[in-house]
Amino acid sequence: MEKPFKVRFAPSPTGPFHIGGARSALFNWLLARHKKGTFLVRIEDTDLARSTKESEENIKSALQWLGMNWDEGIDVGGENGPYRQTERLEIYQNEIERLLSEDKAYYCYCSAEELEKSRNEQLKEGKTPIYDGHCSHLTVEEAQAYEKEGRKPVIRLRVPTEGTFAFDDMVRGHVEFQCAGVGDFIIMKSDHIPVYNFAVVVDDAYMKITHVIRAEEHLSNTPRQIAIYQALGYDIPVFGHISLILGSDHKKMSKRHGATSVDEYKKMGYLPDAIVNYLALLGWSPKGEQEIFSREELIEQFSMKRVSANDAVFDIEKLNWINFQYMKKLSPEELLELTLPFIVHAGYISLPLSKEKEDWLKEVVWYLRERLYYGSQVVEQIKMFFEELPPLTDDAYIEILKQETSKQFISAFAERLEQLDTFDEVAVKNCFTELMKEIGIKGKAAFEPVRLALTGETHGPGLYTMIALFGKEKTIHLLKQSLL
Ligand code: GLU
Repeated sequence: MEKPFKVRFAPSPTGPFHIGGARSALFNWLLARHKKGTFLVRIEDTDLARSTKESEENIKSALQWLGMNWDEGIDVGGENGPYRQTERLEIYQNEIERLLSEDKAYYCYCSAEELEKSRNEQLKEGKTPIYDGHCSHLTVEEAQAYEKEGRKPVIRLRVPTEGTFAFDDMVRGHVEFQCAGVGDFIIMKSDHIPVYNFAVVVDDAYMKITHVIRAEEHLSNTPRQIAIYQALGYDIPVFGHISLILGSDHKKMSKRHGATSVDEYKKMGYLPDAIVNYLALLGWSPKGEQEIFSREELIEQFSMKRVSANDAVFDIEKLNWINFQYMKKLSPEELLELTLPFIVHAGYISLPLSKEKEDWLKEVVWYLRERLYYGSQVVEQIKMFFEELPPLTDDAYIEILKQETSKQFISAFAERLEQLDTFDEVAVKNCFTELMKEIGIKGKAAFEPVRLALTGETHGPGLYTMIALFGKEKTIHLLKQSLL
């Protein structure tokens, strides 16, 4: 009988949650949901020096924020726990002892210097260095002598020297590694902490993982892991190694390319649904031209068959475009909720807001929405509602404002506005269009100078709405200022 479909995400909590990790998690999550299987999350914290609780929290909260809920694992529990590797040391120890008793693994007392020497000799002979097998058949006496010297042994796996480790990768097709190139490798260090390759295999086997989908960087670990599966006698899962994420210059994505952690995108006010949508397209190509996918659509359509083995290039412009599509779906209330923290942080307003101020701000943010690809951009856009307008520097713009027709229109417009009792969009518009007719100037000749006087730019979203939102006092002040 086929085993129930089960995948996992197994991050090492050694730093901020990288966008590449989020994509691995997402592919697993989507498949689990698509196949109505189980998505498990466990923490691989055997690198004691680099693992932190803070990073674990960061990963968990990012997964939650992205809406990738898990069915089994840390926090939620399950029947195959514990789900943190440092809490599973006894399990690994038992498996190691089993291998030792079956003579599938052995103690190795070689020192770092001895290993280095053997390595160099092999290199000199033009060979790919592997463990030379020095301790593979020690007698009890030899082992005791080493113990007496105070050497602390590691444990190595006996690896076949002939044949291949072969598997059919979901992304890369048939992959083969020569056994002879692997060598007897360490499975447990002298501090009794198993190495990643060992712990990961034991966990995947105990946790009944059927498909291992992870980053390409682990492809070269797979032959070792297969050797461990074979030695332990467990079923080998199906592997799928997804490509690297590269920056725009086709080099491995790093800080140089901008934000690399999920947290940074969250802090910039990106929307989780948009990130999920974008990450899904990073390596997976859907059938048609569609680019905006709801979660339900992704779950329905996602398949490893359409995941490319080529490197994926992180394209911030595309992420921004996708995020923009999701921003457009927000209600005025949601848009305010997203942008408010940035506005507060910029010092433009302080909380709590009066009802009146909240309503005004909601309208302002709504008005700006066409210029917001993501939340934090609100600060730049909303500036004009709170700050003095800097003097114009562009000569062409200065020239427009100097023209007699511009001055005439601006000053007459300011006077008209002054007389308005109700200062709303309709009233402002009437005022403006009537004046155009009276003075006899058309479109651009009226709009450009007024916009320049108010914003320092010649283009932007609805002028009348903006004026209404500026209010009488600010508008008249800016118009008059431009005449000086
Ligand atoms: N803990 C490994 C990592 O964060 C993942 C290992 C795996 O998926 O097999 O890179």
